[in-house]
Amino acid sequence: MKYYWLSSEDEHRVNWLIFLADPNRRLRERYRPLACSECGRVNELEALRHGFDRDVRLRSKFDYFMSDDGFDCVNKRGRAIFEESGAMGLEFVPIPDGQHFVVVPTQRVEVKREQLEVRETQVMDLDAIARNPSLIATARKSVRVEVDSCGMEFRGCCGACGRCFETLYWPKLNSMILPKDASLVVSPDVLSEKSWHSVVWLLASEAIVKSLQKAGLRGLEPVEAS
Ligand SMILES: [Zn+2]
Repeated sequence: MKYYWLSSEDEHRVNWLIFLADPNRRLRERYRPLACSECGRVNELEALRHGFDRDVRLRSKFDYFMSDDGFDCVNKRGRAIFEESGAMGLEFVPIPDGQHFVVVPTQRVEVKREQLEVRETQVMDLDAIARNPSLIATARKSVRVEVDSCGMEFRGCCGACGRCFETLYWPKLNSMILPKDASLVVSPDVLSEKSWHSVVWLLASEAIVKSLQKAGLRGLEPVEAS
């Protein structure tokens, strides 16, 4: 059976849920107690349970899109399409604008991992550049790269919370134990890390993807998992 990552088209509007729309990585006050003292990351799914500030608004021409802080979001039409598609294993957490929901997977699947190689590489030092943008051409730092049998690369690691500073690629299909029920939309138990936050990737069977496409879910850009 084919599976697809439910990725979405680029949304050009600025949509933050738990951070302020501010280049200096400012977490909204209510989530500060959750932040790692060293890297500043929060457990995004835990943050959702702490609710949203009343001024949080999402704007998109799509039914399905990703917020700038990595949450999969839908409007009311998008939620209805997901529900009518027969997709199971999803929760829709309402946000204060009354128009949108965060799509949260309730089923995480285990990713079998085995470290294959460890090396060092040079990457842009985004924190230094944020402090001093004139350093963009020169600020580099060395990070540890772990290449894993699941197909992902894990870069850097926070000494306090253990989360990576960045991951590359998606876990391979054969590294995951997928449910027998093809209607279940799942997410790998490995965090996909970006420079500030992680992204929760949704993985769906071809039958569900076809159903979402047939119903005209705007913004969906599925990528076949391999
Ligand atoms: Zn940390």
